[in-house]
Amino acid sequence: MNSNGIDPRTLRRCLEAAATVIVANEPRLNALDSAIGDGDHGITMRTGFEAVREKLAGLADDAGLDKVFKEAGMAFMGATGGAIGALLGGMLTAGGTALLGRTEIGVDEFRLLLRAMETSLIRMGKAKPGDKTILDAVHAAGEALEGSPGDILEAVSTAAQAAAAGAQTTSNMLCAKGRASRLGERVLGHPDPGAVSFSLILQAFAECLQKEASSCGGSKEGTSALGGGSI
Ligand code: ADP
Ligand code: MG
Repeated sequence: MNSNGIDPRTLRRCLEAAATVIVANEPRLNALDSAIGDGDHGITMRTGFEAVREKLAGLADDAGLDKVFKEAGMAFMGATGGAIGALLGGMLTAGGTALLGRTEIGVDEFRLLLRAMETSLIRMGKAKPGDKTILDAVHAAGEALEGSPGDILEAVSTAAQAAAAGAQTTSNMLCAKGRASRLGERVLGHPDPGAVSFSLILQAFAECLQKEASSCGGSKEGTSALGGGSI
């Protein structure tokens, strides 16, 4: 199969990779949340991604992109409390809805996915860019794709870098939403934990895709490895 996108099996491996990165970063995410919240963000993210991992392990081999995202989102939401449980769970399920009928995630689908996630997040959380939330990373990732990011590997990598930069800029913001909004200027100098989490997830996706491409020869059609269903 010649393809330029992420097929459902590759998506599952990327979500697995994200779970591994989130579990490894639990202490860091807790520490970030201790500085401006209640210190549980790493625990919540780890719990959510462990549930995602378990759900993916039980999914039928032929589950499509929409099903993978929706099941992941529902598993995340069902396993976690806190603001991020509903918000990130909702983003994942909204991503699934946006990809209904698509068989792979190329650059266009990736844009669609990020847009759907951002819309869901804003609808649920009512935050705006600049409010020092996860939205600042999601929005930066989407904006970075407005030009022509090349192939899907470059697009995901560009989005991941933009999300990391977006998360970093939250250090200089006052917080308008969530627990940290009660702390006024005490939040200055600390990045938003949710924004950091989102950038870690995209970074894990980017690294997973790079690995997939290079393990399949890294040819000019290297991206074909992504959609080739190779294991
Ligand atoms: P809680 O604040 O309930 O303890 P977490 O610590 O798991 O939940 O998650 C906190 C993160 O949730 C924040 O860093 C921020 O990114 C995100 N968040 C909280 N409220 C909102 C909101 N209204 N809109 C967008 N993101 C939000
Ligand atoms: Mg918290």
